[in-house]
Amino acid sequence: MPIDVARARADTPGCENRIHFNNCGAALMPETVIDAVKNHIDLEAAIGGDEAAEAARASIDNVYASVARLLNCAPEETAIVENATRAWDMAFYAMTFRPGDRILTAVAEYASNYIPFLQVARKTGAIIEVVPNDDSGALDVDALEKMMDGRVKLIAVTHVPTNGGLVNPASEIGRVAKHHDVPFLLDACQSVGQIPVDVQAMGVDMLSATSRKYLRGPRGVGFLYVSKAWIEHLEPAFLDLHAATWVSPTHYKVRTDAKRFENWECNVAAKLGLGAAVDYALGWGMEAIYERVTVLSQLLRTQLHEISSVNVHDQGSHQCGIISFSADNLDSTGVVQCMKERGINLSVSNASSTRLDMDRRGLGAVARAGVHYYNTKNEIARFVQALADVCHMNV
Ligand SMILES: *Cc1c(COP(=O)(O)O)cnc(C)c1O
Repeated sequence: MPIDVARARADTPGCENRIHFNNCGAALMPETVIDAVKNHIDLEAAIGGDEAAEAARASIDNVYASVARLLNCAPEETAIVENATRAWDMAFYAMTFRPGDRILTAVAEYASNYIPFLQVARKTGAIIEVVPNDDSGALDVDALEKMMDGRVKLIAVTHVPTNGGLVNPASEIGRVAKHHDVPFLLDACQSVGQIPVDVQAMGVDMLSATSRKYLRGPRGVGFLYVSKAWIEHLEPAFLDLHAATWVSPTHYKVRTDAKRFENWECNVAAKLGLGAAVDYALGWGMEAIYERVTVLSQLLRTQLHEISSVNVHDQGSHQCGIISFSADNLDSTGVVQCMKERGINLSVSNASSTRLDMDRRGLGAVARAGVHYYNTKNEIARFVQALADVCHMNV
């Protein structure tokens, strides 16, 4: 079933105000998400925060079931935490590394993953190795295969990087990881919500994602998937009375489900909003969402190519809803500012977010347009016209 765009837009109050192409920064929430968050805040105000959480217990449990449906895993394999970064951290910092252990990652890795690699490498003597790209700019799976040996302790890769339309070949990476029995940690922060993500089909052992980007949920909440097989091998770096139980004066017992990666206090309203966002996405169907995002992003990319002073920077043979570009006559911050003044939301991705990739390509920053299924061809046309106008001005 194709997306009913008119209904999607009617469900999205923010559509009326602006052309929102910052879905890779934070997408517009649909009404059902806004209601879930607001209703819980109202309930907290009316009866008390603990009492509201108690009253919402069944709905809270359902959030895990929804996330599990989205990813094709069991609810016990999901943890809901503050954001994607903390989700990723809870998995990564639970691993133990010894001198000479190898961590394999991708060129387009995100700063908040690479900085922890650097820290852990410094503290443990583990070695970070970057799998080269193929000619298209995606992770080269043959090169990865050749790098595998008994010292590889982790493959940690970003599915869709923060700085453009590249989709790394996660399923092929997962096959290599499975073949060598090495855990595979996938940062799916930019892919979940725009691309169907099936952790079992993809051979992913751990996956992190956020609520506010392509899933269209509220800010300040994200989630982690850890496969049943890996949960018991990963004792989190931080524990509290929710992740573990103090069973005697000298002993504690860590939970056996993925909630060991959570901590007790959380934003219940945001958690419920995440659940509503997942249910809403599943209501459209991830295949239908993916199809429309693909059509719109290809249209936008094609039209940007036609503006002579605009350079499109997306890599890979498989590309998604994020379009990265720069203009010859104006820096990316300036482009984003000019578009904002025209009611069009974009965002900037700086070199420090994906240092290896940006330095190799000599890019200081790129402007990002992340289209979603509720965007329209008309919005794309208006954006391209506005950008062409700005690019032909002498700023
Ligand atoms: C935004 C982003 C993150 C971090 O997500 P938060 O929810 O802000 O922690 C991680 N990885 C990638 C690729 C991102 O784009």
